[in-house]
Amino acid sequence: MQEEFDCTYLEALAETGENLFHGSILQEELSELSVKRLRKSYDSIQLDRFSSEEIRKSFQLAILKGMKQNIQQNHQMTPDSIGMFMGYLADKFLSGKEIHLLDPAVGTGNLLTTVINHMHNRTIEATGVEIDDILIKLAYINANLQEHPIQFFNQDALEPLFTELADAVICDLPVGYYPNDVRAAEYKLKADEGHAYAHHLFIEQSVNHVKEGGYLFLLVPNGLFESQLAGKLHEYLKEHAIIQGLFQLPLTLFKNEQAAKSILILQKKGENVKPPKEALLVNLPSLSKAQAVDRILTQVNEWIKENK
Ligand code: SAM
Repeated sequence: MQEEFDCTYLEALAETGENLFHGSILQEELSELSVKRLRKSYDSIQLDRFSSEEIRKSFQLAILKGMKQNIQQNHQMTPDSIGMFMGYLADKFLSGKEIHLLDPAVGTGNLLTTVINHMHNRTIEATGVEIDDILIKLAYINANLQEHPIQFFNQDALEPLFTELADAVICDLPVGYYPNDVRAAEYKLKADEGHAYAHHLFIEQSVNHVKEGGYLFLLVPNGLFESQLAGKLHEYLKEHAIIQGLFQLPLTLFKNEQAAKSILILQKKGENVKPPKEALLVNLPSLSKAQAVDRILTQVNEWIKENK
């Protein structure tokens, strides 16, 4: 497909995913020989033999291959282990049977669908927003192949969002400056001088689009509360949200200390929403250390029993 259309691997992957979902070859411009070759390889794939999680993982490997050929730092897919841990946490914290999730920076949909695949015995609907048109195409194909009902919006997520309030936001926040100062001026977390931080504005936008008492599971840079604009963020959070937990991820998951991240769990304030006795602050050990991870999971479970 890539050869025939002289396009990138990721664009070719999107076309291939679309074909697999529809069970036919949709590109009329392909040569007869290619159609024959493709049909032969598609015929050997029976998607219904695989679980959603197996399909996600294989699609993820193909996306990783494509991303290696065309590296864009801010478009990195959320790593599997982080997604699985966020899914575990979301499953523990959220109590409803019918849940609406929102990911305002959905990228390839890998994080969102990992979380959905790790939430048990629920009916989940979701909304994903993404500014990059090839990533959102991969995300919607990913959702189709896994048969998840996700609605996608291809737009700047910091512009007005036309979605219903979610029960929870799941997001690997894009980190850096937001160049649109006019739009940023609408936010409480705007910068008084120069550009605002996109990741701060994403937090405010996420709080705005979650129900009272709803949760936010956010992958944030470790220095979130130490940057120049952190004072404003502290004040904002104090007024609108409760910090439920902060999980510092093991450094081994990241290229260097500057790139290291944590999972921040917030709850939007509202009637009958009580803060925990104390927030759950955890330094996660390397995920390969099974016993140490087990101890942490026991600690999380006990905390949830006591506070939820
Ligand atoms: N969780 C995603 C996944 O598993 O593929 C990866 C998220 S990646 C760290 C952040 C994403 O935010 C990128 O895909 C980027 O294109 C998107 N993004 C950055 N600024 C945005 C904006 N203003 N509105 C919507 N999406 C944005």
